Order: sequence, then C-alpha cells, then structure tokens
Amino acid sequence: MKNNNKNTGNTVYLDHAATTFTDPVVLETMLPYFTENFGNPSSPYNIAHISREALDKARQQVADAINADTEEIYFTSGGTESDNWAIKGVAFANRKRGNHIITSAIEHHAVLHTCQWLEKQGFEVTYLPVDKYGQVRTEDVKRAIRGDTILISVMLANNEIGTIQPIPEIGRIARKKGIYFHTDAVQGIGQIPVDVEALNVDLLSLSSHKFYGPKGVGALYIKKGSRIDNHSHGGAQEKKKRAGTENVPGIVGMGAAIEQAISQLEEHAAHMKKLRTRLLEGLLQIPATHLAGHPEKRLPNNVNVIFEYIEGESILLMLNSFSIAASTGSACTSASLEPSHVLIACGFPHEIAHGSLRLTLGKENTEDDVDYVLQIIEPIIKRLRAMSPMTPEELRK
Ligand SMILES: *Cc1c(COP(=O)(O)O)cnc(C)c1O
Repeated sequence: MKNNNKNTGNTVYLDHAATTFTDPVVLETMLPYFTENFGNPSSPYNIAHISREALDKARQQVADAINADTEEIYFTSGGTESDNWAIKGVAFANRKRGNHIITSAIEHHAVLHTCQWLEKQGFEVTYLPVDKYGQVRTEDVKRAIRGDTILISVMLANNEIGTIQPIPEIGRIARKKGIYFHTDAVQGIGQIPVDVEALNVDLLSLSSHKFYGPKGVGALYIKKGSRIDNHSHGGAQEKKKRAGTENVPGIVGMGAAIEQAISQLEEHAAHMKKLRTRLLEGLLQIPATHLAGHPEKRLPNNVNVIFEYIEGESILLMLNSFSIAASTGSACTSASLEPSHVLIACGFPHEIAHGSLRLTLGKENTEDDVDYVLQIIEPIIKRLRAMSPMTPEELRK
C-alpha cells in the first residue's frame, strides 16, 4: 500500500537529508513578505519597518533555537555559504597567528572543498580519520593540534551516515588552546538538541531547507568577539559583515521553521526512531546487508545500509520506478566512479561501499511507507544480485 501525502504526493519520500518540503504553516508566514510587506528593511518608512521587524523576529527565533544572542546570528544563503564564510573568514582573519586548520575526512563537500581551496592559498590542513562508525576520536584531535593551528571544523552530525560527533569534547579541547571551533550543524536541527553553549563552539552553520523551511536561506552563528573577515562588502546589512538586501520572505520562513522544529523536537525524534527501527530491522533481514554509521550515536531519521554485490545507483533507479525517493553514497553526485568519501573513511572497501543506500525519514512518513519500502526492496535486491557477476552462488536463489 502506498501513502498519498499532501506534501509529497504519491512519492514515498525518504531523502530528507537532501532537502525537505516547506511546511505549509511556514509558507503561510512567508507569503505576505512577497506582496504587501515587500519593503526594503533598510528604508525609513512604515512598510520597510514591517520588514525590519520581521527580520528581528526571525533572528530572535534562530537565536533562541540554538541558545545564542541575536547579535551572534548572521543570515546567509544556506549551509554552503555559512561553511565557506566560517572557514575562509576565520582562516584569513587569523593568518598572522598561524596557517594550520584541522577538519575531518567525513565533512560535507562545503567544508572539504573549502579546505582544499585554502590549501592552494598556502594554508595547511589536517584531515582527521574516523573510526568504523564514522566518529572522530578526540585523541586524534589533540594530537593534530600544533602551535600554528587557528581553526578546527568538525560537523555535528554526518549527512550520509548520521553519525553524531563528540562536539562538546572537541570544543573543550579547542577552547583550552585558544583555537576557533566551527561545526556544521545543518543535519542536527530538529533531530537532536543544538545548543552553542553546550557544544562549546565559536561558529555554527545552519540551513533552513533541511528542517522544513525554504531553500536558499541559512545562518551562521558567530560567537561575540570572534575574529572573522566580512563575507561580502557593500551595504550595512548583517552588521556590515554580509552586505546585500536581505531575503526577507526566506528569513521569515527560516525563523518560523526553526521555532516549529524545536518545539516538536522530542515528538519528532520519537516518531523517527520508531520508523527507523522498523525499517532497519526489515532491511537487515536481507542477507549480506550491513549498517553504515554508528548503531546508537546517529540521527534519529537516518538509515544507511550497504548491500553487497550490487550498485547503489541501480537500487535507486528501481526504487524510483516504484515512486520511492532515496539516495546512495555511490558515484551519484559527480561523473566520477568514486564511492562516498564518508564510507571509504569508515573503512568500507570500494566494492562494498558502492552498494550503499541512504534512507532519511521525515515527519510525513508513516509505518505504511516503511512497510511499502520493505515490501518493494527485497525483490529488487534479489533481482539485482541475480544480474551481478559478483554475487556468490548461495545468494542467487
Ligand atoms: C545540505 C548540507 C549542506 C549544504 O547546505 P545548503 O543550504 O544546501 O547549501 C552543508 N552541510 C551539510 C551537512 C548538509 O547536509
């Protein structure tokens, strides 16, 4: 039986780590800011004041959600921009103190490619390894620190395997040494508590479309007193650090979405865990199937399994023909045949990492969705294995 959902139509959408729909309640709050409340927040008349007040309210909503002050919240165009600004901004502003940066091998490309670019600008970067569950070891962080280390960037929770990192501990180490600490918390909001004080971070990236807000808007938390270069130069917006007329409807939507995500966090996480357990138990019944990521320290909505002897991309195509939307860590994002850098860093051999399937649950999913997927997927795996020359004889039956 297939679900018919008002937000995702007749697709069983299981790719919430890639993006979410904009919640209808969130969309309602945004709409007036496209039409009658269209004023430029920097202008000196009433309709502009309405926009200014809407920005102030959204900044308060974001600050409250992560236990920050409103002066520490800067709106951006999303997670990618926040990561770029945090890392480049701190790197160049503190270059006189040193040119060494520490990050992990499993970061999102918004962090990894930024660090690789900084290497071309003369910075030195250490990419920390992870254990088989995708966790950074705090001992490795301590060992990597040098006299010229200026920044550590480790994500809160991984977008592929859902593994949650020991951020408070890494933050404590960084703070003791006077090193800036950034975390990409894009996947965390609405799934697990995100508190900048408890996490001991100086910078934290957010993206609205990962928690039922609109796309193209995000935020960077910058702890008061941090030394960071401006993102862009121009007008006086965002305390002159990020010039450009604000995306008012988007920011209003982000504020409404984060407030809703936080107020529903516990209920949502419980719903996700229930569905995840059912889904995972069903998937692991299939022979030669492995869980990727940490069994407990993972996002409540993340399932990532690896099916031996087949390609994740073939699974996706077949799932798509049954209106199931999912993701793989195999060769999908680029033309390359490289499997996911995250799965490789966890120690999965290349040929096994190719068989990964990521299913990320969302608030509209139901037990019927899970049962539908389980019913569809088993014959798909059997069929693909029957077609694969690698499959051993006993799995062909
Ligand atoms: C989606 C994502 C990003 C990028 O955010 P955008 O708003 O899409 O630019 C960065 N980091 C992580 C962990 C993500 O999941």
